[in-house]
Amino acid sequence: MAPSDLPAGARVVLASHNAGKLRELQRILAAAVPGLAEEAVVSSAGIDLPDVVEDQVTFEGNALLKARAAAAATGLPAVADDSGLAVDVLGGAPGILSARWSGRHGDDAANNALLLAQLADIPERHRGARFVCAAAWATPDGQEIVERGEMPGRLLTAPRGEGGFGYDPLFLPDGESRTSAELDPAEKDAISHRGRAFRALATRVAPLLA
Ligand code: IMP
Repeated sequence: MAPSDLPAGARVVLASHNAGKLRELQRILAAAVPGLAEEAVVSSAGIDLPDVVEDQVTFEGNALLKARAAAAATGLPAVADDSGLAVDVLGGAPGILSARWSGRHGDDAANNALLLAQLADIPERHRGARFVCAAAWATPDGQEIVERGEMPGRLLTAPRGEGGFGYDPLFLPDGESRTSAELDPAEKDAISHRGRAFRALATRVAPLLA
C-alpha cells in the first residue's frame, strides 16, 4: 500500500473497520492535538491490510502487532486496540480469548450464554469483572507506545439492554445502575476501557503530531 492510496490529508490510520471506534479516536485525537483535523484520522476500512495472526498472550502485545502491521503497510503512524473482559473468579479469563470464548469467533450470544452458565452459582459479591483495552501506536520508523484502560464493574445474572455489543448486556460498570448496553455511546465512551486507553494514548502521542 502506497501512502498515495490513502485519503488526501491522512496523518494517522486506525487499524480497524469499526466505524464507532474510528469516530471515538477522531474526536479524542483532534481534541488532544491542536491543528489536527478529525478527517486526518482515517480507518483501514477499504485499505488492503495484511491479515495479522493475533498470537500474543497480552492485550498490549496484540494491539502492538496490529499497529505495527498497519504502519508498515501504509507508511503512516498507526493506532490499534485490543480488548476483552477479565472476570475475577475466572482468574482474568476470558481475557484475550473474549471474542471466541464459546469457540466461535464473534458469537456474542453464545459467549454470553457460556459465561452466565459458568458463573451460575457465583453470588453477586464475587461477580467482579473489568473490561480492559490496550491502545497501541506504531510508526513506520519503529516508534511504539502502548497504553491500557480499564472499566471495572460486575456481571449480572441475566442480560439487560439493547445497545453496545459483546458482553455489554451482562456488565454493570461501577457506580452505574445501568448496564453498558443501556448507556448511550457518549456515556459509555466517557467511562469505558477503550475511551480511557485512547485518551491516555492521545496524551502521549500529541507532542509527536503537533
Ligand atoms: P476487540 O478487541 O474489539 O476485538 O474485542 C474483543 C472482544 O472483547 C469482543 O468481541 C467482545 O466480546 C469483548 N469486548 C471488548 N470490548 C467490549 C465492550 O466495550 N463491550 C462488550 N464487549 C467487549
